Amino acid sequence: MRVFRWHAIDDFLTCRKKFENRWLKNLEPIEAPKALRVGKAVHSVIERSLKERADSSVLTSVLKEHELVEGLEAHQAQECAETALELIASTPIEPLSDKHGLLVERPFQVQLLDSYTTYRGRIDLVANVARKGPYVVDFKTYSMSADTLYMDFKMKRQMWSYVLALSKLGLECVGYAVVLLKKPRSLSTESEHTLFIYNLTKEELSEFEQELLLILSDIRQAIEDNALYKNTSACVQQYGACPYLELCSLGSSGLLQEVQEEEDTSPLIEF
Ligand code: SF4
Repeated sequence: MRVFRWHAIDDFLTCRKKFENRWLKNLEPIEAPKALRVGKAVHSVIERSLKERADSSVLTSVLKEHELVEGLEAHQAQECAETALELIASTPIEPLSDKHGLLVERPFQVQLLDSYTTYRGRIDLVANVARKGPYVVDFKTYSMSADTLYMDFKMKRQMWSYVLALSKLGLECVGYAVVLLKKPRSLSTESEHTLFIYNLTKEELSEFEQELLLILSDIRQAIEDNALYKNTSACVQQYGACPYLELCSLGSSGLLQEVQEEEDTSPLIEF
């Protein structure tokens, strides 16, 4: 395996079986879980707001496009999107330069240090925030409270990997900013948000690159040794339930299909 995305690495760290199902067998649910649809709809609203400076009227049409019209998930998407729009409206978010404009939902592709590994991804936003930067900015919808373990082990590494990728492309970011949008638990509650901003030193980034290469080497070794076991008991916690639960517990894959990768037509980030 020579091409990696963060979600593949994240799946490996969460559960090797999940990694195998999604990234080696290329299986995915026929119908995306509603919880994932919420995240996609919220990202779509944020993207249009940043690109087109669209106002909140865009919300209703985006929710319809994602078939989120009524019920708890529709309420969660509406609440999280409104919270994000308010935050965007009240925070100075500026392009890095006139030449690049705001870099919104843009893919990247870089070679890592071993020059054997291609790292690909898609970044929500690269911009100056509150007159400082550049920052990698990410919006996440989330059900549980943002505990330290989640922050340290997963989100931080994902963001650092994006900062690292941009540095390979010639853009030195000062760090990352993550907006966590907590989904309301019921129809009568509202969304909450937390903003994390972290500035990274060059030493931290260089240590992280070594760590990332070790993780990638573990993944290759696990594939070679076929050591792709279930390394979690948290199968029903993330997004309500892991999409591969039925496959793992019953051996049935009736609700899964082979992934059809969509062609990403957005221009790659370049500096
Ligand atoms: S159901 Fe559990 S063991 Fe199976 S892939 Fe999902 S997280 Fe892993």
